[in-house]
Amino acid sequence: MNSSVAFFKGKFIPYENANLHITTHALHYGTSVFEGIRGNWNEDKKTLFVFRMKEHYDRLLEGCSMLMLDIPYTSEELCKITLELIEKNNFKEDIYIRPLAYKSEELVANLKLQDLASDFALVAVPFGLYIDSNRAINCCTSSWRRIEDTMIPTRCKIGGHYVNSILAKTEATLSGFDEAIFLTQDGYVSEGAGENLFLIKNNTIIIPPVSANNLSGITRDSVIKLAAEELNLTVIEQNIRRSEIYLADELFLTGTAAHVTAVGSLDNRKIGSGDVGPITKSIQELYFDCVTGNNSKYINWCTAAN
Ligand code: PMP
Repeated sequence: MNSSVAFFKGKFIPYENANLHITTHALHYGTSVFEGIRGNWNEDKKTLFVFRMKEHYDRLLEGCSMLMLDIPYTSEELCKITLELIEKNNFKEDIYIRPLAYKSEELVANLKLQDLASDFALVAVPFGLYIDSNRAINCCTSSWRRIEDTMIPTRCKIGGHYVNSILAKTEATLSGFDEAIFLTQDGYVSEGAGENLFLIKNNTIIIPPVSANNLSGITRDSVIKLAAEELNLTVIEQNIRRSEIYLADELFLTGTAAHVTAVGSLDNRKIGSGDVGPITKSIQELYFDCVTGNNSKYINWCTAAN
C-alpha cells in the first residue's frame, strides 16, 4: 500500500495534498536539510522497528542550525510526530521515512538565510532494497570530487549537496557501475554517493575520518560499535588513498538505504575475492539483526512503532 497521510505545515493531511508553491526558496537554492530513516517490519514480532530515530533527528537539527532553519520542534517531538504518522498510515512493511526541513519563503531572488520562513514536512513510503546488498557491487572512482566542508558543510544532509552525489551516481550507473566512490580535492577517499566507506586490511577496519568531507553517518557509527564490541576488531580512522582500496582484503559501504553493502571491485579491479568477504558478511548479519529488532543487546537502537 502507499502512504495516505503526510505531515505538512504543522498538520497531518492527505498525502496527495502535501504540495509546495513553485517559488519556494528551497526548490530554487537547495536550502533544505533532510533525513532518511528506515522502519523495518519484523514479521515474527508483528512490529515495525524504527532505527536510531532520535540520532537522525539530532543530525537534522544540527543541519537546521547550519542553515538557519527555525523549526519549532525538538528531536523528541519529531520522534513523536513520526510515530503518529506511521500509525496513521498503518504500515506493516519496510518503510523509508523522509523528514524535510526547508526554507519555505515564497519569493524569487533572495540569496540569504536570515529573515526567511522555514517549515518542516514528513512523509513515509514503503521501501525495499536501495542497492542489492545480497551481492558484492561494482564501483568506480567518480570523476566528480566530493564537495569540501569549506564550500558547504558536508557532515549533515543539506539538500543542495545532493547535486554532487547525483552527478556521481548518474555517471557511475550510466557507465555500468552500481555506485560511485568520491575522492576529496586532495585525492583522499571520502565516501560513496550515498554511503560511508569501510576498508578491511589484515583484519583491521580502516575508515576515512569525517574530515575527509563525508557525512557523519548513523550506520557508520552503528557499524563501528558492532565491529569493535561484537567482533573485537580494531577500527582506525585515517586518510585512505584510492590505491589502498585496490589492495584491500574487503570493502563495504554503509547507509540507511544501502544497509551494509559489499564492494567487489573498484574501477574494474577486483577487491579481495571479489565476493562478499567473511568480515563483511558477519557485520551484515549483526547489523541486520539490530535494525530488525532481533538483537536484544542493541534493542535501544530501535523504537517499536506499533
Ligand atoms: N553519505 C551520504 C552522502 C549519504 O547520503 C548517506 C545516507 N544518509 C550516508 C553517507 C550514510 O549515512 P547514514 O548511515 O546516516 O544513513
